[in-house]
Amino acid sequence: MIITMKEPDLQPYKLSVFDLNDENLSTYEFWTVEDTKWMQYALALAQRGAEFGEVPVGAVLVCDQKIIGQGFNEPIGRHDATAHAEIIALRAACLQLNNYRLPLGTTLYVSLEPCTMCVGALIHARVDRLIYAASEPRAGMVGSQMNLPVQPFYNHHIQVYKGLCSEHSSHILKSFFRKRRQAAKKNKGSTKTL
Ligand code: ZN
Repeated sequence: MIITMKEPDLQPYKLSVFDLNDENLSTYEFWTVEDTKWMQYALALAQRGAEFGEVPVGAVLVCDQKIIGQGFNEPIGRHDATAHAEIIALRAACLQLNNYRLPLGTTLYVSLEPCTMCVGALIHARVDRLIYAASEPRAGMVGSQMNLPVQPFYNHHIQVYKGLCSEHSSHILKSFFRKRRQAAKKNKGSTKTL
């Protein structure tokens, strides 16, 4: 009897090409346990924002594996157009450290691709690494609409990685907007019956 062995299903291990000169952003296909843990934390903050009716985006600043600042998107609650998760985390860290610049080796984990304002603030604060989850196709400034961090006129460059827990982040955002649409529809319906 001839036993035919099934060919092992070996997929070639796929690694993103890491070319720092490439204008396209690098994407990790694997992440450290620490990076994943901090992004999960940022996602929990995003979820907290959703509970307050804010678009769910969360951010955490980490240095030497310790949280130095955190926040979630809160422009409605704070009556402040600049109260994005990243800005709140930056302000908290700078206040706590009594310094407008952050220590070397600081990483910002944020659940959504930052906007123009936040990229600018991250550069001013000297954040070393930026890791974001989901892309923001409409206003994302780290590759979606423009890629600000790679512009040569800045005197500080941030290492950027994207895609960690992106599906989880997209899910939180989609379910937030779905609930909001449903609530708006319900309100509209109840107004009609009045
Ligand atoms: Zn922003």
